Amino acid sequence: MDQSTVPFRSLVEMSEVATYQLLDGKRCGDALKEEIAKGAAAVKAKRGRAPHLAAILVGNDGASKTYVEAKVKACESVGFRSSLIRLPESISEDELLARVKGLNTDEELDGFIVQLPLPDHIDADRVLQAIDPRKDVDGFHPVNVGNMVLGLPGFLPATPSGICELLKYYNVETVGKHCVVLGRSNIVGTPMSILLSRNAYPGNCTVTLAHSRTKDLTSITRQADILVVAIGKPEFVTADMVKEGAVVVDVGIHRIADVSKKSGFRLVGDTAFAEVAPKCKAITPVPGGVGPMTITSLLLNTLKAAGR
Ligand code: NAP
Repeated sequence: MDQSTVPFRSLVEMSEVATYQLLDGKRCGDALKEEIAKGAAAVKAKRGRAPHLAAILVGNDGASKTYVEAKVKACESVGFRSSLIRLPESISEDELLARVKGLNTDEELDGFIVQLPLPDHIDADRVLQAIDPRKDVDGFHPVNVGNMVLGLPGFLPATPSGICELLKYYNVETVGKHCVVLGRSNIVGTPMSILLSRNAYPGNCTVTLAHSRTKDLTSITRQADILVVAIGKPEFVTADMVKEGAVVVDVGIHRIADVSKKSGFRLVGDTAFAEVAPKCKAITPVPGGVGPMTITSLLLNTLKAAGR
């Protein structure tokens, strides 16, 4: 583990200097982006055009718009070309599938994503399965999921692979550790459990995958050397649920009302940071932890697609 333990008084509001390592996704992401920018320049020199990522955004959901805009901005920062395709909320499933098929055959495009969630009248699984796996830089297509399970080449899902990059950057030991993943979604919890149980680094953990039907959750999470929290509930994980000296990775992101802020809200994760952090060996902040790593992984996947 990096020895530069970070003092973080303001967040933890403690009287003493904190002794935990902050797993800084912005710092790690920025370091990786420098490498990605070099890769983008090399692709441009070889192929005569920069890597190109497109994002389809259906409807006007504010959070989705913010996420997509951040992805587009990240593309610009590393010299990629990006295209934002905005479609109305009322678009039919067939029309959306036709747009996806068009992007599959667009030779000027290396990869694309369909921002989730989609409106209720559209079957998201059908849309994701229509994406050509070779352009599926979100890593959600069953072919890429299957390749991940088998350890074959393919695109890894952005959030779990971003977490792996972060663990690598901070040399977090994983071999033989008990990792508890809290949440079993297809995009975060389940792939995270697979990646950390693989015979690789980071990996070789003994993994427990917990979910809403798990009995006596606290007794399980307290066994975790590494606790990955992707539950979608603000500040759900409290200090009593965490073992002393654990590494905690908080995937959640929520806006909660805060009258002391100019904006009227603050961002929190699925973990009650102020009380959990002092028990940890290392922990990700929210914001600035997993979020920037998800975007960086998407760029890495796009570079890989462009290099093929
Ligand atoms: P999700 O699809 O809502 O899945 C939540 C999981 O948590 C489910 O497996 C659910 O179990 C489990 N769960 C819910 N309540 C529980 C409880 N009381 N006890 C135990 N398990 C419980 O969420 P997601 O898509 O994985 O996202 C999780 C969080 O991460 C959200 O806050 C999301 O916004 C955030 N996120 C952040 C990023 C990023 O880049 N930072 C990326 C993706 C997601 P069941 O399966 O039994 O229902």
